[in-house]
Amino acid sequence: MSAGEPFWRRKPLGEMSRREWESLCDGCGKCCLVKLEDEDTGEIETTDVACRLLDIGTCRCTDYGHRKRRVPDCVRLTPDNIGALRWMPSTCAYRLLAEGGDLFDWHPLVSGDPETVHRAGVSLRGRAVSERRVRDEDLADRVVEWEL
Ligand code: SF4
Ligand code: SF4
Repeated sequence: MSAGEPFWRRKPLGEMSRREWESLCDGCGKCCLVKLEDEDTGEIETTDVACRLLDIGTCRCTDYGHRKRRVPDCVRLTPDNIGALRWMPSTCAYRLLAEGGDLFDWHPLVSGDPETVHRAGVSLRGRAVSERRVRDEDLADRVVEWEL
C-alpha cells in the first residue's frame, strides 16, 4: 500500500483521526431510519420513517453534537461496534471498510461532491418521511423491503 493511497485504504478504522472518521459518513441517512425488532425472533425490520432529528432533504442529523441526549436510541458508531451492527446498510462506508471493502465511486470522498450519494440513488432523499409526521401506532405499516 503506497503513501499516496487515500487514508481509508492506508489506515485501519481504529487509527483514523476524528476528522477522518467523521468524513467517512457519506450522508445517505439510511442508518437513521426507524427500525422495529420482532420480540420473538429478534429480527429487525426497517421502515421508511426517519428519526425525528434527520433533515429529510439533506439527509443529515440536525443536532449531531447532541444526538445521544436528544435521541437516546441513536447508536454512536465506533471502530469496535461497527462489525456487530448487522442492520447497518450494506453501502455504509464504515461497514464496507470494516468488512475489508472499499468506498464506491459515488462516495463524496471519492467523487469530491456531496451530491453524488443522492444522484446515485443511495440516500434517503425523496423516499422517507419524518418520524414527526407518523404516529407510533402506524409504524408497523411503514416497514419496507428496501435493499439497504
Ligand atoms: S449508513 Fe453509514 S454512511 Fe450512511 S449516514 Fe449512516 S453512518 Fe453515514
Ligand atoms: S439522532 Fe441524528 S444521527 Fe441519530 S438516528 Fe437521529 S438523525 Fe440519525
